[in-house]
Amino acid sequence: MLIRASLLSAPALQELHFEADGGLLVDGQGAFSDTGRFEEVAARHPELPVEDLRPCWILPGLVDLHAHLPQYEAVAADGLELLPWLERHIFPAEARFADEAHARATARRYLQDALSLGTTTAVLYATIHAEATDVIFQEAESCGIRAVIGKTMMDRHAPAALCEDTRTSLRQSEELCRAWHGRDGGRLQYAFTPRFAPSCSRELMLGAGRLAQNYGAFIQTHLGENLQELEWVRELFPEADSYTDVYRRFGLLGPRTLLAHGIHLAPSERNIIRELGCNLVHCPSSNAFLQSGIMPLRRWMEEGLSVGMGTDVGAGPSLSMFREMGEACTASKLKRAVQQVQSTHLKVMTGLSEDQKFQVSEALDLNPAPALDGTGAFYLATRGGAMALGLGDQLGALGKGFQADFLVVDVRLSDPFGQASTDPAQVLSRLLYRSDPRMVQSAYVRGRRCFHRA
Ligand SMILES: [Zn+2]
Repeated sequence: MLIRASLLSAPALQELHFEADGGLLVDGQGAFSDTGRFEEVAARHPELPVEDLRPCWILPGLVDLHAHLPQYEAVAADGLELLPWLERHIFPAEARFADEAHARATARRYLQDALSLGTTTAVLYATIHAEATDVIFQEAESCGIRAVIGKTMMDRHAPAALCEDTRTSLRQSEELCRAWHGRDGGRLQYAFTPRFAPSCSRELMLGAGRLAQNYGAFIQTHLGENLQELEWVRELFPEADSYTDVYRRFGLLGPRTLLAHGIHLAPSERNIIRELGCNLVHCPSSNAFLQSGIMPLRRWMEEGLSVGMGTDVGAGPSLSMFREMGEACTASKLKRAVQQVQSTHLKVMTGLSEDQKFQVSEALDLNPAPALDGTGAFYLATRGGAMALGLGDQLGALGKGFQADFLVVDVRLSDPFGQASTDPAQVLSRLLYRSDPRMVQSAYVRGRRCFHRA
């Protein structure tokens, strides 16, 4: 089947690819075997029937690198910062995943909603429950989404219902990894998931790092999200130089490591992350929701850190990566505005030498960086996310040879007059800032349609 539609992708941070009248061919293995201007693609395959999807546009499927599926029922519980929010709203919701039927119903709803909003790759935390984690994998397997999933590991500083015995945690995680890592030609993968340093013993982190290494699996955890959390980590690990150094000491850092948030990171921590090739996950809506801070995204990227994006549901209030892209642009603009105001204040301050002003400006990150634009956010939510998963040459773009993970989007729904504009930057901007929950018409993973709006 040859598909005809407008094609939009962002294969690089500042590169938007647009084909107003495009053609796309998917082969039997679920990859794009031909793509380009419709006339040219059609001329190469005159025997094929054409599915004309105009005026819809085709975009690469979106990659959500960080979300907590079991927190869906507690989504958007406002008013607290990270640690009290976990105690009050999140741990009770996660404890309910001891009930397998509840876990299955939540997983089904979550995965369908994610696909309907354009997420074709989801990196997910389960809870500490092995059975519930297995159920989430089963549901991901049957609905067709691409997913990296891990059983959350916590063997201290957790409520009794969510606190595990260290050995049991490691054994169950290993069993799940053996059962699911690489399933269905690599569509499903396993991530060892020590929740965050405060809820993990040294032995647990060390064991998780070793297992991930043995199986070539992912590692996902949280880093540098909240100031109280940072203080707690300092108390719990006096031997470490920094929060990042805690993870480094226990062998959790490498190119298959996903570190959510990374807002508050000292220069030495950024050096470790860059040198070990780890990936940060930017979660702007969650960072605002829990009052955690604004990640200096552009600065981190200019320093050469690998960054993707995640919704961080339930602290992120929506499963929509379109919305998350808009939030990323907004956060980046606010960051720049604050930098401009504060650096102006610093300039007129008396009593400091020029040299001191320069040092303060550097230390407090007051030198305005350019704000993230729509193309950049789109890149982070597609190819950038794929790169963080080591799949940059296979996923997140619409080129020949890429996996056929794509969306059919009715762009008219984000236009105030219901028009289909042909200006790609304008359309993209509206998809991010005015996303409509009904605009994704279909979502495909490896050429298989996993969602279709009736
Ligand atoms: Zn999280």
